[in-house]
Amino acid sequence: MKRRVNIPIFIPHLGCPNQCVFCNQRTISGTLSFCEDSVRPQIEAALATVGDADAEIAFFGGSFTGIDRSLMLRLLDTAQSFVDADRVSGIRMSTRPDYIDDSVIKALAPYTIAAVELGAQSMTDGVLAASGRGHSAADTERAITLLRSNGYSVVGQMMLGLPRSTIADEIYCARRLCELGVSAARIYPTVVFKGTALAEMTETGEYAPLTVEDAVGRGAAVLRVFDDYGVPCIRIGLCDAENLHSESTYTAGPNHPALGELIRSRVWLMVMEEAASSRSFTDENIAVYCPVGAASQVAGQKRCNVKALLSSTGARSIKIIEKTGMMGYNIRIATI
Ligand code: SF4
Repeated sequence: MKRRVNIPIFIPHLGCPNQCVFCNQRTISGTLSFCEDSVRPQIEAALATVGDADAEIAFFGGSFTGIDRSLMLRLLDTAQSFVDADRVSGIRMSTRPDYIDDSVIKALAPYTIAAVELGAQSMTDGVLAASGRGHSAADTERAITLLRSNGYSVVGQMMLGLPRSTIADEIYCARRLCELGVSAARIYPTVVFKGTALAEMTETGEYAPLTVEDAVGRGAAVLRVFDDYGVPCIRIGLCDAENLHSESTYTAGPNHPALGELIRSRVWLMVMEEAASSRSFTDENIAVYCPVGAASQVAGQKRCNVKALLSSTGARSIKIIEKTGMMGYNIRIATI
């Protein structure tokens, strides 16, 4: 199967009248302004580096279906010309739930839209209000339903650690997105960037950023929900744009470059501990069988999962063995 890549075109804050407390789009996109004329050269430059991968043009970083309609259509025309020339396979975009309506559905119809990525962020109205999102959970329900009923694939984006959000809110959000039929998900930690309302809220004590450990625990719980529904998480953690880890832009929160890896690894620990809880392994040498390619995540960074499992089971030793035919977060524990 061909490798799939996105060619991201960042459109910072264009057309967005909202001020989500965490948002500093200029920081996130690493660019202060948007130049329409640069879009085609950006796509050409990216295509020169993708080899034979299956590429999609991705309008990210803003509220794509909320920008000036004629600009949106011109950008889609540009992207579609690459689809028509068989140089990319489709177009995706990120937008807000309240920027999806019948007129948007009609406007998108002539284009090859691979997916609409919807920034749900939370499905709890109190969290959305405290985060300044300016839309409700009902808006997200309506938007996903409308998109799905018109045949669009929807990626649900959600956040961990928004103001007033609990782990229960986040599990609920993941579950609702799955029930509504998203085909994939992205999980973002709430990170505090300089110059945002959230930075002020953090300074006054109104908001307490998650630690990396908090984010790992919450992310693992949420990831298990998506996994239970068979919904792949195509990204965990902030995108790899420049500046995100720079002290000039970031002030607090779980902005760990390997957050996704840590979260996936934590899920393996949860799965192993559940599997080991059914019987005693005290003083036994045990083998943990896992899918091919999963051993390092199963073991955890610096073998932290192995150490935790040794301690919780009392086992003498643990060997991790990759086994063909195993899929997903699936393990088997046996004595050896
Ligand atoms: S909707 Fe919120 S996060 Fe998105 S660009 Fe507007 S203010 Fe930023």
